[in-house]
Amino acid sequence: MAEYGAEYRGGCQCGALRYRVEVSLEAPVICNCSRCSKVGAVLVFAPAPQFRLETDAAAGKAYTFHNHVIRHIFCTTCGVQSYSEATLPDGTEMVAINARCLDGVDGHALAARAKLVDGAAR
Ligand SMILES: [Zn+2]
Repeated sequence: MAEYGAEYRGGCQCGALRYRVEVSLEAPVICNCSRCSKVGAVLVFAPAPQFRLETDAAAGKAYTFHNHVIRHIFCTTCGVQSYSEATLPDGTEMVAINARCLDGVDGHALAARAKLVDGAAR
């Protein structure tokens, strides 16, 4: 198990989007909204300053739906959604990382102990 706030590298399948993020894997979340349930993401969250994209942001495209608060970033080459961006009501910029896209992280093990969030009801 990774320590709290450890630094990870991750990104999409093809590598057009690569990032570093300092994030805890202690509280993984699976969301049942109309998008997350199809994407199959296991989410962990970090304040935006702890996230650094190392590749050209133009390799990604932002998809929004519902209330358009969350920007789901997918790679325009391989299609993998490796992170999302959102601004909380208090103005805090957050990044939701698809932990399945982190190098060396066992996404299946995280999924097994993830908390289900009822995004479908929001
Ligand atoms: Zn890609």
